[in-house]
Amino acid sequence: MRCLYCHARIFEEVGWSDLIFKRVEDPFCVDCRSTFVEIEDPRCTICSRSMNADGVCGDCEMWAKHPNYSDVLISNHSIYEYNDSLKELIKRFKYNGDYALAGCFRQELIEHIKLYKKSIIIPLPVSSLRLKERGFNQTEALLECAGISYENLLKRIDTEISQAKKQKAARHKGENPFQTEKVLNGENILLIDDLYTTGTTIRRAASVLKKSGAGEVRSLTIGR
Ligand SMILES: [Zn+2]
Ligand SMILES: [Zn+2]
Repeated sequence: MRCLYCHARIFEEVGWSDLIFKRVEDPFCVDCRSTFVEIEDPRCTICSRSMNADGVCGDCEMWAKHPNYSDVLISNHSIYEYNDSLKELIKRFKYNGDYALAGCFRQELIEHIKLYKKSIIIPLPVSSLRLKERGFNQTEALLECAGISYENLLKRIDTEISQAKKQKAARHKGENPFQTEKVLNGENILLIDDLYTTGTTIRRAASVLKKSGAGEVRSLTIGR
């Protein structure tokens, strides 16, 4: 077996305990694994940002006053720090189309998603333009590799950005690119994305679902 990140051969010592407990193989070698840093507590209770003490970060305090998005997202949980290692991995996965990397975070996703019982799992969609460029939706790929079933209740409208459409796109900047045709009846939702950056994308998606009748909306991302 080779490390999915550096492709070095991984030498495994399989002992009885591995056989008994069916220990899961790590897709990374020890060196690469050590470069992915889990976000630890204390963190912002809303967006998972690392903090010096428990509480709500400045960004989330701002969001709480936002006219459209103040109460659409209960919380986001992110697993890893978005450091150079994760940045490089996501770049290879998303932009170089290295589909094999979709399996990297299988185990983490399974363990975290278990905690959101009875929520509908919805991956954030990419626009059809991005889909054409990449050949796959990276978030669906992550879920599929983890064997987690999901529902595609959101559509993302192409607001981006071929040269010819640039002016039109500029006019639409700031509009919510998400839509849903589904009418919900108070179901709780767990949105999945690869990264939480400013939180805007996730809140836009959440607001569309809330308008369609969703109950509580939370999100889970690999990085932040
Ligand atoms: Zn490695
Ligand atoms: Zn926050």
